Amino acid sequence: MNNDRNNTPHPKTGVPLKNYGSQAYPEGQIYLDAKQINNFQKSIDEAGLDGNTMNTGFVFLHESLHTRFGASFFNSMTDNKQKVGGRFRDPSGAFGKTYSAGNTVDRVNTFRRELGLAERTTYSPHNPNNLGSIILSLNGTSKEVTIKNQPLNN
Ligand SMILES: [Zn+2]
Repeated sequence: MNNDRNNTPHPKTGVPLKNYGSQAYPEGQIYLDAKQINNFQKSIDEAGLDGNTMNTGFVFLHESLHTRFGASFFNSMTDNKQKVGGRFRDPSGAFGKTYSAGNTVDRVNTFRRELGLAERTTYSPHNPNNLGSIILSLNGTSKEVTIKNQPLNN
């Protein structure tokens, strides 16, 4: 767990991890970006949906699927076909919005659905210069939520 005051460097590039948002590595390291998660949750709350759909637990679950250990809990034929290098990946294509959520988000959405939370219908990669938006869907209604910088304390 980390936040925007933390300067832990990326293991390969040396760039502070806070510049990349939450992420994970195949070997099992998971970095959670507290500021990014706070921005997600409060922006979704402000849009009238339950911000828990992007809370720390859901972001952790998402990132864990990018590790081989996290992905090892998913072993159906479809799971194994969709794994790349023993883990699940996000749709590729740099900082653009994609209109498919991808193999990782689809699996996390199963848990959101079970809890009655809105599902993520798009994946948009982290971009520190443009927080972007997330399209959420609840009971067949979609809503695009613009992610804004939010204060860390209420
Ligand atoms: Zn991801």
